[in-house]
Parts: sequence; C-alpha cells; structure tokens
Amino acid sequence: TVRTRFAPSPTGYLHVGGARTALFCYLYARKHGGQFVLRIEDTDLERSTAESVNAILEGMTWLGLDYDEGPFYQTQRFDRYNAVIDDLLARGLAYRCDCSKERLEKLRVDQMAHKQKPRYDGHCCQRTIDPDAPHVIRFKNPPDGVVIVDDLIRGRVPFANAELDDLIIRRSDGAPTYNLSVVVDDADMRITHVIRGDDHLNNTPRQINILRAMGHEPPRYAHVPMILGDDGARLSKRHGAVSVIAYRDQGYLPEALLNYLVRLGWSHGDQEVFSIEQMIELFDIGDVNKAASAFNTDKLDWLNQQYLQHADPQRIDRLLRPHLGHLGIDPSTGPALTAVIKAQAARAKTLTELAEISAFCYRDFDEFDEASAKKHLRLVAREPLEQIRAAFELLANDDWTAETLKHTVERVAETLQVNMGKVAQPLRVAVVGRAASPGIDETLLLVGKEATLRRIDKALA
Ligand code: GLU
Repeated sequence: TVRTRFAPSPTGYLHVGGARTALFCYLYARKHGGQFVLRIEDTDLERSTAESVNAILEGMTWLGLDYDEGPFYQTQRFDRYNAVIDDLLARGLAYRCDCSKERLEKLRVDQMAHKQKPRYDGHCCQRTIDPDAPHVIRFKNPPDGVVIVDDLIRGRVPFANAELDDLIIRRSDGAPTYNLSVVVDDADMRITHVIRGDDHLNNTPRQINILRAMGHEPPRYAHVPMILGDDGARLSKRHGAVSVIAYRDQGYLPEALLNYLVRLGWSHGDQEVFSIEQMIELFDIGDVNKAASAFNTDKLDWLNQQYLQHADPQRIDRLLRPHLGHLGIDPSTGPALTAVIKAQAARAKTLTELAEISAFCYRDFDEFDEASAKKHLRLVAREPLEQIRAAFELLANDDWTAETLKHTVERVAETLQVNMGKVAQPLRVAVVGRAASPGIDETLLLVGKEATLRRIDKALA
C-alpha cells in the first residue's frame, strides 16, 4: 500500500510551501487508499523548538490534513539511528574519520584552486582510528557508477557517484545527521512515496546510496518545485504572510487555502474550485508542473470569497465572532449575526473584511468614507435625507420591514421627482458610512430604526 510522509523540521512556522507539500502527501495517500505519516525532524537541537512543533500541529489540524500515524519525533529514535550506523561500520560500509578542521579546510582550498568541486578525499577510509578518541563517522559512498533519481515530477535525473561525498552520518558529539535519520525513518516507516521540496533533490542520490547499503530498495520520489513571490524570488516573509496560521488569523477559510495550494503548480482543465473530495479524486502528483509557481494573493482572495459565500452561515457565525471581537464588537448587541452574514458574505474577501464591513450593524461610526461622502452626501443630500427622515419617523416600529422601507424610499424619490438612487445612496452613506452595502431595505433592517434616525441626524448636522 501507498505510504507517504510529511517531515517538517520544527524550526519555524508551518510555511505555505510546507503546507502544500503536506497537502500533496495527504492527497496522494488518500487517493490510493494508503496512509499518511507525520514525522517531526527535530534532530537539530539548537534550532528546533516546542513552539514550532505546536505551530506545525496546529496548522495541520486547522487545514484538516489528518495523518494516520504520528507525529513521530526523530529525537526519540537516536538509538535506532545509532544501531544502523554501527551496523554500517561493522559491515565496512562506513568508517571513522578524525580529520582536523584545518586539514579539511586546506583540502577545500586546494580543490577550489584546481577548480574542483570541494569533496572529502577518503583520507581516513583505510586508516584505523581509535574509537575512544574524537571522530565522526562517514558513509562510504560507492566510488563510481551513476545513481538515477527516477522522479515522478522531473523524470530521470542522473547523478555520478564520483560527484558525491563520503557524507558524515554521525557527528563528533554522537548525533546522527539529517541524511542518515531520514533514510532510516523512510525505511522503517515503510514509506513508498517521498514527496518533498526540490531543495532536497541533491540529497536524494546520497539517500538512495545509504538505503541500498542498508539493504533496501529506494521509494519513489517526487520533488515539488518551490513557490515564488510576485517578484520571482523564493516566497518568504518579505512577501507578506507565509505562515498558515497567519492566513487563519487574517480570516481565510482552510478549504480556500487548500484549494489555492492545490492549484499552485497543478491544474485540471480550467476548473478552479475543488472540494477536498474532488482533489482526492483528481489530483495526481505526476501532473504537477516542473516549473516553480508564483503565489498570487488576488487569486487566494477570490477563492476565499467563493467559499465564504457558499459556506454554512452558522459556521461563519462561529468563525466571525473573534474577528468582530478584535473590533470591540459584541454581536449580541444588534441584529442576528447570521442575518448579517447572509446579507454580507458575498461582499467580503476574508472574515476580517466581513467583520469590518459589518461593523455598522452594531455601532455608529465617526467618519464617512471620503469618496462616498463627497459623491452622495455633501452637495445633494440635504433634502432627500430630511424627507426620508421625516417619513421614517412616522413609521411605527412594527412597520420597520423590508417591504415598507423600500416603499418609503420609493415614495420619497417620487415626491422629489428623482430616481431612487438619489435617495438611497445618501441614505446608505449616512447609515453605513460608505456607498457599498446590501440592498437599502436589508441594510436599514439590520441597523434598526433608532440607529438609522440617529445616524441621519448626524449626517445632517
Ligand atoms: N525535514 C526536511 C525539511 O523540513 C524535509 C526532509 C524530507 O522531506 O525528506 O526540509
């Protein structure tokens, strides 16, 4: 059965690039009825933090990328890695090396001077080294031949063994290194498909050699191209939010972010919107582009708007409350939040924006949108606003219904012999603060009679 793994190093947040890799691993496993494993690669003790582990787990949970096994932690598997290293040593497939920093540095400088690629020269391979004196362990890479990485995205990529170093697999402090632990884990966890960022492509031939030395056949590999910012450089903090949790906090829905990420480098005809079920059915790792793709916030916004519009208002109700809270708004002080959501969902790109454009339903505001006020309020509005105010004043509270409100606006427009917009727009700006809102009747209904009159007075003052 297919088994994939996502293997982040907990040295920061869950980055959108990492999330896309995780999504691809998840989809591939689900599509093939296989398993998806989460492995935390925390061997770099200096850079790994518990905070970052939590951020990764939180991001995975929020996105709904459920794993079947794990999280496994590499720091809990040192004994196993050391057993493999000892076995390689015993079988003559690895050796001790006590070359000094100075020797290695001199070697490097000499090789560079001869325009050679810097590479360990195997100096210690034939020497006997006291196991109790300080040393590292190196893997004895095959001296010649070619390793072919048969990549599901990039095709066959050959690497000459002569180009590959005798890699350090155990440091002098006794800690196993990245390439060794990855390989042991991929073998032990019976991973069939390694899907990861293409920054690891150069590690793959080394890992294949170590796997073979351990007596395993390598899994299939798929190296996913990186994500670029809008300026063509690798996507980073410089370009704005990169952490998955930042997107959550800005009011994106997880399904929108997943949908966006699956389309980064992959397509299915001209379809843009994919449910997770459709992704599982249609996604194939082999169809992912070889070229890097650029992150496009406008497209993410568009997708998020689609999902906001079609989501269950009850769910949006729950998700929107913290965003209203940030604005100091308690939705129990005004119209039902689900009614506001139904009226407004199509108008906002994010939950944050939805909260902002809905604030008028719950509180008065101090400033008008400048352009709206200029166009609809300053020059032309006094008479329509006075008339509509007088008409509203006469309405009984029971008459504050969509139908009556619409009718009242129409009647005032008729009396003034202007079109309805000449009344509705100033009214809207007076009540909402800007010229954009749901239909005027729906808007007034949400705001209520008392606040409507109060705000008209303020606009007229
Ligand atoms: N831990 C590595 C990283 O975060 C990934 C290793 C792998 O997927 O093989 O870059």
